[in-house]
Amino acid sequence: MDLCIIGSGYVGLVTGACFSEMGHHVTCVDNDQRKVDMLHAGRIPIYEPGLEELVHRNVSAKRLRFTTSTQDGVDQSQVIFIAVPTPPQPDGSVDMTFIEKVAREIANALKPGQYRVVVDKSTVPVCTGERVAATIQRYNKTAEFDVISNPEFLREGCAVEDLMKPDRIVIGSSSDRATDLMRRVYAPFQAPVLVTDINSAELIKHAANSFLSLKISYINAVSAICEASGADVELVADGIGMDRRIGRQFLNAGLGYGGSCFPKDVKAFIAIAEELGVPFNLLKEVERINAAQLERFLRKMRDGLWVLKEKKIAVWGLTFKPDTDDVRNSLAIDLVNRLIAEGASVTAYDPKGMEKAIEWKLIPASVKLAKTPLEAVADAEALVIATEWKEFQNQDFAAVKSQMHTPLVFDGRNLFDPATMKEFGFIYYAIGRPVVK
Ligand code: NAD
Repeated sequence: MDLCIIGSGYVGLVTGACFSEMGHHVTCVDNDQRKVDMLHAGRIPIYEPGLEELVHRNVSAKRLRFTTSTQDGVDQSQVIFIAVPTPPQPDGSVDMTFIEKVAREIANALKPGQYRVVVDKSTVPVCTGERVAATIQRYNKTAEFDVISNPEFLREGCAVEDLMKPDRIVIGSSSDRATDLMRRVYAPFQAPVLVTDINSAELIKHAANSFLSLKISYINAVSAICEASGADVELVADGIGMDRRIGRQFLNAGLGYGGSCFPKDVKAFIAIAEELGVPFNLLKEVERINAAQLERFLRKMRDGLWVLKEKKIAVWGLTFKPDTDDVRNSLAIDLVNRLIAEGASVTAYDPKGMEKAIEWKLIPASVKLAKTPLEAVADAEALVIATEWKEFQNQDFAAVKSQMHTPLVFDGRNLFDPATMKEFGFIYYAIGRPVVK
């Protein structure tokens, strides 16, 4: 099939690459000329495992191409996916200006007699589909189209895998003709398809991300009780997670949830519910617990170091999670900024996130960046683990300890085995676990 994706970021580019890998002909549109130029030059603007290879293969096979022209994309394609940002506004509600603008652009590009399916893949408030349809109709009276909601559930860091083998595909539709086309788009993926009305599909995405955030906040609240009582949150999580009704995933105590999705989607869901006259106080508590985690972690650091001012601190990890270069809303970045604000001197290392952290000016120029994890710890008075990259687990810890001025480790992701850290002679602070001295 001929498909078009408007917005070629983390969701749009990976979706375009995976659709083309499945044999569709895909036009990826982005209004950022620099991004499209990079893609034309064979360079991939984001890091996502497996993506580069996929893009190169499908561009060579002439199944994938890039343009800045929405008109071009709409002309060529039966199905038009929208994958533009839906960032939060200061009050937590969703900024819909990108979606509205794309709806107008599609309306202007649609030609009489050309039936098109317009699919919203961005994460949007319930009832957006109705507004997109009304907008297209308002700007193009003769347009023949249907609107579909097809929320995306990919996780950054394993986005290609998630797209190729999704747990489910949700299609929110009010038209059999459009549903049939969507089934054809996804047929090669051989994944379970759930067809719903448009509003339910839109709600599924916010409800799913809020539930996952809730699970993280739940175990973080339990981790505080573990710290107060001397229990070990990892064992508690194992015990809870072995219950198949609950599951072990997303029961990892740590600095909290961050990134470009969970914080904004929880905020959005609270705002959406409030607007509908159904206050969602449970989610407000989820946010409160999440914000408290970083404060508790800083208290732990003050407990170990007494005063943070003038301390040399190595931070491993800047991205909001491993296997991505995404540093948007990363708690690791927040932590670095808090340490700097308290007068500490920070040397950071991240396998993929340093370039964007500098480019987007997310960390002050005073933060030194190291080329290796070992270089970062040279003369450090403490090491902080802020992102759970696998690379950090495979370090030579005897060498790490010998490089450090004092062997304090504050593990914000419970990445290490306390007994092993003790063997190496570290003073080891983790989340929700007894301190090892
Ligand atoms: P992104 O910022 O990485 O990419 C969005 C792209 O859209 C950018 O490249 C931007 O230049 C482009 N764009 C903006 N306006 C445009 C226009 N008018 N025409 C053409 N291109 C335009 O964002 P993302 O992370 O891919 O997220 C997109 C949507 O998907 C959001 O609603 C997000 O909540 C949702 N989502 C994201 C993830 C994730 O993990 N990143 C997962 C699921 C859903």
